[in-house]
Amino acid sequence: MDENKIEQAAKLIKNAKYAVVFTGAGISVESGIPPFRGEDGLWNKYDPSILELGYFHSHPKEAWTVIKEIFYDFMGKSKPNPAHISVANLEKAGYVKAVITQNIDNLHQEAGSKEVYEFHGTVRNLLCLQCGKKHPAADISLEKLPPVCPECGGMLKPDFIFFSEQIPEKASHLSFQAAEKSDVMLLIGTTGEVMPAGFIPHRAKETGATIIEVNLVESAHTRSVTDIYLQGKAGEIMPELERQILS
Ligand code: NAD
Repeated sequence: MDENKIEQAAKLIKNAKYAVVFTGAGISVESGIPPFRGEDGLWNKYDPSILELGYFHSHPKEAWTVIKEIFYDFMGKSKPNPAHISVANLEKAGYVKAVITQNIDNLHQEAGSKEVYEFHGTVRNLLCLQCGKKHPAADISLEKLPPVCPECGGMLKPDFIFFSEQIPEKASHLSFQAAEKSDVMLLIGTTGEVMPAGFIPHRAKETGATIIEVNLVESAHTRSVTDIYLQGKAGEIMPELERQILS
């Protein structure tokens, strides 16, 4: 851990008027949730076509069997790690105004973050493809697949976006608005390769924000927008950053 750089980052966040956190799959790796890509990525074990809308409609039972295994049996048991908790503590203390996340795992909210914009949706709800109603996933049995809407009998789909689906309008609007308002943006565990989410730090930078990045390895952002790069595990760097900001 580079103490000088952490100190510099802590000062920037402490003095910021509107600091925003932007997270990717890397912040949840220490909660036991693998990212999609890379050596231990989910796509080395599963076929990504389960998240293609066409496949989902033509093979709902097969798609749902894998979706249940990854996103409900496995992800559903994960708990927030020290990085999620530090982000929540910094919001509670008034230093972080909003969290924009590409993650769908609900761990920021479980850690106590309140102002969370879920750019890719969430596992928390299931959406009826027939009547459009959303149901808490916890209220729907996944014993028989695919699950159906208790009100109209239509097929339910997780309320996160599949490949080539539109970004939820409200989350997109709030995310870009927060990026434009931010004077400091803290990126945690994201490759910057998933678009349009990857444009968010660029928007923040163009509108005057200083960009701090936490990642194990350099990302597409490190070379393009990052001002201070903190290399290491989010679960180790974030508690240290929190300690320095709150001390
Ligand atoms: P990614 O999977 O493309 O990359 C993860 C990034 O995190 C990499 O840059 C990696 O170096 C970094 N990283 C890994 N472990 C880390 C650690 N302990 N500390 C700090 N950094 C670490 O992630 P992405 O850029 O977010 O894009 C993947 C997309 O897949 C996302 O948009 C998201 O919707 C989805 N996804 C979500 C989850 C989740 O909800 N937890 C999990 C997998 C994928």
